[in-house]
Amino acid sequence: MQPDACFPIDAAAPRPRRSRQARIVWGSRVVTVGGDAPVRVQSMTNTDTQDAIGTAIQVKELALAGSELVRITVNTPEAAQQVPYIREQLDRMGIDVPLIGDFHYNGHRLLTDYPDCAQALSKYRINPGNVGKGDKHDRQFAQMIEAALRWNKPVRIGVNWGSLDQELLAQLMDDNSRRTPPWDAKAVMYEALITSAIDSARLAQELGMDADQVLLSCKVSGVQDLISVYRELARRCDYPLHLGLTEAGMGTKGTVASSVAMGILLQEGIGDTIRVSLTPQPGQPRTQEVVIASEILQALGLRYFVPSVTACPGCGRTTSTTFQELAKQIDDFLRAQMPVWRERYPGVEEMKVAVMGCIVNGPGESKHADLGISLPGTGEAPAAPVFIDGEKALTLRGGNIAAEFQLIVENYIEKRFGQPQTAAETA
Ligand code: SF4
Repeated sequence: MQPDACFPIDAAAPRPRRSRQARIVWGSRVVTVGGDAPVRVQSMTNTDTQDAIGTAIQVKELALAGSELVRITVNTPEAAQQVPYIREQLDRMGIDVPLIGDFHYNGHRLLTDYPDCAQALSKYRINPGNVGKGDKHDRQFAQMIEAALRWNKPVRIGVNWGSLDQELLAQLMDDNSRRTPPWDAKAVMYEALITSAIDSARLAQELGMDADQVLLSCKVSGVQDLISVYRELARRCDYPLHLGLTEAGMGTKGTVASSVAMGILLQEGIGDTIRVSLTPQPGQPRTQEVVIASEILQALGLRYFVPSVTACPGCGRTTSTTFQELAKQIDDFLRAQMPVWRERYPGVEEMKVAVMGCIVNGPGESKHADLGISLPGTGEAPAAPVFIDGEKALTLRGGNIAAEFQLIVENYIEKRFGQPQTAAETA
């Protein structure tokens, strides 16, 4: 008789890639990226950095939404002058999120001429395609690395196919023309992206940077391109990788493309910090990119940020919008509470709540959750059984089900995740 085979439950588990670990520091706050650190969420402001107050407010919003690192554009002397003031405003508000400076074209001058800016930033992004051409390239790149060494800051070598080093690309195209048979143009483009990143990282090390203080990214805007490039980049180096689809687009298109591309790579253990480059829809908050990045990591089971609400899609059995409204209300409520609950109720972010539309899957799905409610479908008795820890606990009826269920959620969280009070607190 064959022994019972065990179901390969871990067959699809994410496989960690062993990268180096970088430390990004502000004051006593240390954000580690790579190695055994959790995959970090980061974001970027879209305010004018010269507007120090507006930028500080947006950084605060992004940090409170869960962004562990926030990048700001530093594009002019006026912007560089405001960076220390932005940092000061954040410190005053108790927001210790590290700030990353995004530099193109004139970063060598700004980091040299504005030392307070160089010091106030916690990391510099250097785009090797935008540091100057010809003999200026290496000299200006070296100036940025000198600033990083002087202020002990890590750098991200951030290559982007929209601003790829054209001299390098031309040289690789030339080399390719002598290959038999030649690679196709896309393969040469991939090679140029990866070569630009890794050669720049090695140059930074030759100039004195510690390998642990160099992160890499090679951003492209196509899903399949990103997967191909990052798989090869991860194979060729052990620098921590910043992962993101550049110019992902708006709304559902940007969200889906980013989720698919990053989901596949993260599942393979590729990516140590992620950013969703979403074009905000008019009126949409900038924090949406942080919400989506967090959701990607949570959907993969890599990290937990907010209790998850399982809700059915609804169908012909739910002809009212009651359960959609309740699902949204509970989801909004849980998200709104998290800035406070994160400290007060450790572990609450892993809780699961089910809000279901009818008896078909409602009780079953509710039993799988920590807390669940199965609302009555069309033609069912007007009663909503509530399940707590897999057991039916009570039934709600009447027109106040939403408020009553929210209260049950709050009480459950307090009871399960609240810290026992010390004798001094109860006295
Ligand atoms: S649980 Fe009921 S209402 Fe929801 S999708 Fe399934 S059958 Fe439809």
